[in-house]
Amino acid sequence: MQRPLRDLRISVTDRCNYRCGYCMPAEVFGEDYPYLPKAEILSLEEIARLTSIFCGLGVEKLRITGGEPLLRRGLVDLVDMLAEIPGKHDLAMTTNGSALARYAKKLKAAGLQRVTISMDALDPETFERMNGTGASPDRVIEGIDAALEHGLKVKINSVIQRGVNEDQIVDLAAFGRKRGITMRFIEYMDTGNTNGWKLGEVVPYTEMLDTLLHHYSLEEIKPNYVGETAKRFGYQDLPGQEVGFISSVSKPFCGDCNRARLSSDGQLFTCLFAQHGHDLKTALRDGATYDQLAHIIASIWRGRDDRYSELRSKNGGAKPKPEMSYIGG
Ligand code: SAM
Repeated sequence: MQRPLRDLRISVTDRCNYRCGYCMPAEVFGEDYPYLPKAEILSLEEIARLTSIFCGLGVEKLRITGGEPLLRRGLVDLVDMLAEIPGKHDLAMTTNGSALARYAKKLKAAGLQRVTISMDALDPETFERMNGTGASPDRVIEGIDAALEHGLKVKINSVIQRGVNEDQIVDLAAFGRKRGITMRFIEYMDTGNTNGWKLGEVVPYTEMLDTLLHHYSLEEIKPNYVGETAKRFGYQDLPGQEVGFISSVSKPFCGDCNRARLSSDGQLFTCLFAQHGHDLKTALRDGATYDQLAHIIASIWRGRDDRYSELRSKNGGAKPKPEMSYIGG
């Protein structure tokens, strides 16, 4: 394989209880939105089987995502199954945190190691507006504290959108510093076809960094490994404490991406912006052996040549792309 396959994102549902305008705008994701029918969604056992094959092919980092993964029935059992897969792999989850206070203890006991919690604002009004449902940040903060209390490693993701929440950057950074949590500020991306993305709404990471530099002294940290997506900076007054930026629009990093995504209906995507996935479910349900499935996955990965973000300005982003809630963020 040209690029190593190291990182697998596993989407366990295409549904979410939030309606963030940049991801699942309420006007589009209403009552009548055609979510995946239950029969199309992989069972927990099917997800675990495919995941074990990915691990056999060299995947070291597993991340459960969605939609909102905590909406999936049996999620703790799935964590248990994934933690049991032989070999050494890191097991993480990305969640909006709204139900985390209830599940943190069980998830940790089942073998989850790390959790990334999405929180775009601390100001209640901004948070309520952004999640599109009026939910307050309090439950998410409770979820963060429960995760810390039960020994999960925690990071926080904040998507920053111009004119919406760039005034939250300093408060969010202070929140992270106070709790010893790494914050990741994410440039607003042109995922899917429904968020009405405009380049003018992107706050480039250099601007976010400048905002923080007015308050804190920061020094760039060298990447931990090839393909690390975040640009990381350490706080000079708090050794060991850092903040990061995901610059996928202003400084795309496709070239050494080693990440695959498995949608909840068993499609393998080699790029967040790929127009189509590769169907693994049919072979799986037709009784393909471990080796046959491993061969299918390895051939798909070998054939990848996607680097959407690096070509974004040339192709104009005109082709339809899968929604992030479906493909798994
Ligand atoms: N529901 C979970 C959550 O909220 O973290 C997991 C799925 S969500 C799609 C995963 C991550 O993708 C979240 O941190 C979210 O903020 C981010 N995301 C979604 N749409 C995005 C966009 N257009 N640009 C940048 N990040 C986005």
